[in-house]
Amino acid sequence: MRTTIVIGAGLSGLMGALTLAEAGLRPLLLAKGQGATHWTAGTIDVWGADERTPYEALRTISESHPAHPYALIGAGVVEEAIERFRALTEAARYPYVGGLERNVLLPTAAGALRPATLLPVTMAAGDVRLGGDMVIAGFRELRDFYPPFIAANLSAQGIAARGVYLTIPPAFHRREYTTVTFARMFDDPTFRSDIGRQLRVQRGTATRIGLPAVLGLRDPLGAVAHLQNESGAQVFEIPTLPPSVPGMRLFALFQNALEQAGGRLQIGSDVIRGEGANRRLTVVWSEAAARQQEHRIERALLATGGIAGGGIRTDHTGTVRETALDLPIRAPANRAGWFAPRFLDPQGHAIYAAGIATDAHLRPLGADGEVVYENVAVAGATLAGTDTVRERSRSGVSLATGWAAGRILAGLMS
Ligand SMILES: Cc1cc2nc3c(=O)[nH]c(=O)nc-3n(C[C@H](O)[C@H](O)[C@H](O)COP(=O)(O)OP(=O)(O)OC[C@H]3O[C@@H](n4cnc5c(N)ncnc54)[C@H](O)[C@@H]3O)c2cc1C
Repeated sequence: MRTTIVIGAGLSGLMGALTLAEAGLRPLLLAKGQGATHWTAGTIDVWGADERTPYEALRTISESHPAHPYALIGAGVVEEAIERFRALTEAARYPYVGGLERNVLLPTAAGALRPATLLPVTMAAGDVRLGGDMVIAGFRELRDFYPPFIAANLSAQGIAARGVYLTIPPAFHRREYTTVTFARMFDDPTFRSDIGRQLRVQRGTATRIGLPAVLGLRDPLGAVAHLQNESGAQVFEIPTLPPSVPGMRLFALFQNALEQAGGRLQIGSDVIRGEGANRRLTVVWSEAAARQQEHRIERALLATGGIAGGGIRTDHTGTVRETALDLPIRAPANRAGWFAPRFLDPQGHAIYAAGIATDAHLRPLGADGEVVYENVAVAGATLAGTDTVRERSRSGVSLATGWAAGRILAGLMS
């Protein structure tokens, strides 16, 4: 039987697969490994490159960046994707807040400030524009999260903050600590009660307390409420270095929704080639545990994450190759054109915008501008026409194009 295949388990593949599953197409999602969800802050960043709000950027992008994926699918479709995502997170009782009208400014684990468009409600009280003194609290056992350092950097930017360390109760001592170890401890109400009491003592006159984003995997909202009750202050999460607990929550949320809607997820399957005729992809080959598997397909969504996700490979000779279906890549003709001379060049580095060019239906285009496969749509960081790192639009582009590609392949969008 011919199936619907999604390649890639990042935000774009998960959103696309869910959309296809909800249309009744029972997609099979194949991925080499986890997507960037497990590495990232867990926020959805739609646009943060300039003074424009995400809303304004979406409205004007077809003039400023006509080949941008937002311009191809249209601002209205991006907004629909965001609404669908918001509803999904609410249904899963892990709601995202914020909106296109204005980015929220959140502290990072380095005490810098970064814009985010949608954020889990567990991070909301961290918006530095809300005002009020902060305490940043952490644990000496958790590497790469240093409360005094974060607080000093925030204070230097005019945000009153103080850093404190908390003590792990003896019953919870472990040999090793990671973000996930802490998240499991915060799932336990006994641990939370003890930490909440320490926070009450430590907070002084501060009205809000920032903690590393490890406040539970099972019920983070319950954990935040518990800590707020015990401490008497508002509590918020600050993203940590990987593995990202908010990203893992997001992945689990999508996985549950996808499986409930009739989709399947097969992580550990590297897609190595495709075969087709008459501008239709008919077969996809994947490889797992030293065995190749043939999938006869009706339609496919390619969401392999570009260079960072393993969907595009580059080498020292200047070759740029798409790893799953060997689709044509739009990139500078030779290696000398990949990078700008300055690291922080305002125009960005051309190689970051390399990817698969598509038409407005997200179908891949060849060098001649013709559609390569009619039954394939491309989504996420593998798309050309956007330097999402410089634009601070990566997760926004992935979410919106994943949704659009799923709708297009399901025949729900013309
Ligand atoms: C460290 C880090 C921090 C980031 N921080 C932020 C941030 O703060 N804000 C933000 O907006 N974005 C951030 N991003 C970027 C962003 O979250 C993602 O890169 C973006 O959402 C891309 O998602 P994607 O679905 O296109 O691809 P990815 O999430 O990269 O997923 C690609 C998927 O494709 C699979 N794959 C690749 N090739 C193959 C193949 N041949 N066969 C089978 N499977 C394959 C991979 O295994 C993976 O499952 C960050 C990324 C990283 C790496």
